[in-house]
Amino acid sequence: MGKPKSAKYVFVTGGVTSSLGKGIISASLGMLLQARGLSVTIQKFDPYINIDPGTLNPYEHGECYVTDDGAETDLDLGHYERFLNKPTSQDNNVTTGRIYHNVITKERRGDYLGKTVQVIPHITDEIKRNFFKLGETGQYDVVITEIGGCVGDIESLPFIEAVRQAKLELGPHNFVSIHLTLIPYLEAAGELKTKPTQHSVKQLQEEGIQTDILVCRSSYPLPLELRKKLALFCNVQLNSVIEALDAPTIYDVPILMSKEKLAERVLTLLKLPKSKPDLEAWKDFLGRLKNPTEEVNIAVVGKYVELPDAYKSIAESFVHAGAANECKVNVRWISSETIDDKNAARTLQDADGVLVAPGFGERGIEGKISAIRYVRENQIPFFGICLGMQCAVIEFSRHVLGLKGAASTEINPKAKHPVIDLMEDQKSITDKGGTMRLGAYACHLSKGSKSHQAYGHLHISERHRHRYEFNNQYKAQLEAAGMRATGINPDSGLVEIMELQEHPWFVGTQFHPELKSTVQNPHPLFVNFIKAALAYKKQKLPVI
Ligand code: GLN
Repeated sequence: MGKPKSAKYVFVTGGVTSSLGKGIISASLGMLLQARGLSVTIQKFDPYINIDPGTLNPYEHGECYVTDDGAETDLDLGHYERFLNKPTSQDNNVTTGRIYHNVITKERRGDYLGKTVQVIPHITDEIKRNFFKLGETGQYDVVITEIGGCVGDIESLPFIEAVRQAKLELGPHNFVSIHLTLIPYLEAAGELKTKPTQHSVKQLQEEGIQTDILVCRSSYPLPLELRKKLALFCNVQLNSVIEALDAPTIYDVPILMSKEKLAERVLTLLKLPKSKPDLEAWKDFLGRLKNPTEEVNIAVVGKYVELPDAYKSIAESFVHAGAANECKVNVRWISSETIDDKNAARTLQDADGVLVAPGFGERGIEGKISAIRYVRENQIPFFGICLGMQCAVIEFSRHVLGLKGAASTEINPKAKHPVIDLMEDQKSITDKGGTMRLGAYACHLSKGSKSHQAYGHLHISERHRHRYEFNNQYKAQLEAAGMRATGINPDSGLVEIMELQEHPWFVGTQFHPELKSTVQNPHPLFVNFIKAALAYKKQKLPVI
């Protein structure tokens, strides 16, 4: 295998338990390296068999994050983009399923020339080929690779073995291994405990990797003695024991890692120059985030609300938009199944703005429609995303146009008025994986619309993930009654944005704006939605 030119590689593994935040640590390291002028990309290798998370229920795996090139990926890629402000692609997320799929396709084609195809070397070679793919483009100084799951899992073994081989191939100063573990605090003993970390590091050694840097998640600061013990037992330098304290917000983590000199350690081990990072913009963002001068309440109506990861990018977009407005955004997650026409006023009474979330299937649809009716009639700022926009169209068609039985054919294939429907090219599709309208599409905005005001220009590109579309046969009728299509795909004529004319802020998007909001570029629609919510709050305050 050819040695990848130019790029240097950092591999991040995890142990002791899942959910320690490998994605945030990887993103923070990436951001700290980028702040020194290095070009960085982060990729995630997931050990599950699905080809991608596109077919996974959010209860299984949280949000499915979509890239510009239409890849359905792990939600950690969202963190990479939010922290680095750089787009990712299909190449940034690879699963065991994809690796096996590639190898089996080659085998069927006869590429292995009669050889027995085995985990080693064929699967590990395919993993390494994917490890090095982005580095070989010559675009990056450093490629950070996060290995999903925990060390010791049967399914992650081929990935760890490929990391071991990669180290050998890359040679000195081109490879760094970071291991993220947990240092639990035992209440009864009143002590932080290192044993689980020792075991995890030992497991990693058994699999052929000596970690260079140990990042230790902990709820309490690590005393020097404990750091020394970890260094001794885990066979790392004392200054390579990095403390990762629980933080009030994920956006604090780069600053905490900067204090612990994580990036300096990586730069030393990679023999890269150690310049001073420029963290001004990031600190400025944190300053605005932590010192809000105003506050708004936003209700998010969705069907996976008990699961915080299901709407990760929406939650983070509110953080970015809040900071941009120096406004604390209190998000209340409301299950759409609990809302109906009778209780909508009560349920949404403290909301200064309502976002109706994306989703699939029938559950909770009628609740979303009731919530939309209430905010439309009461002039409360509304933001509908994907299914949220489709529900706004259904609600308007039923209650303003009087089209009884208006529905999406996703819910009712025999709807009398299929205001949301499948396009011709979707009708023959039977496979579920990777077959929706996915990825970035152009959109042209109407002059003077709320969307135009938000973006400040007329030509935009946003990411999609849906099968159904607004049915253009109803466009003239809706527009005549005041619901305007203000964003149109220039190639297909499909409606991408719907707005209400007689309303302070009522915007529904067929695309997912939340996928493009970053710390450096808060999404303009979220920023203006929060502005509208602030304005609504001010005018609703009783005059004393
Ligand atoms: N279920 C709808 C569709 O497939 C909306 C999808 C979404 O909200 N992402 O068109």
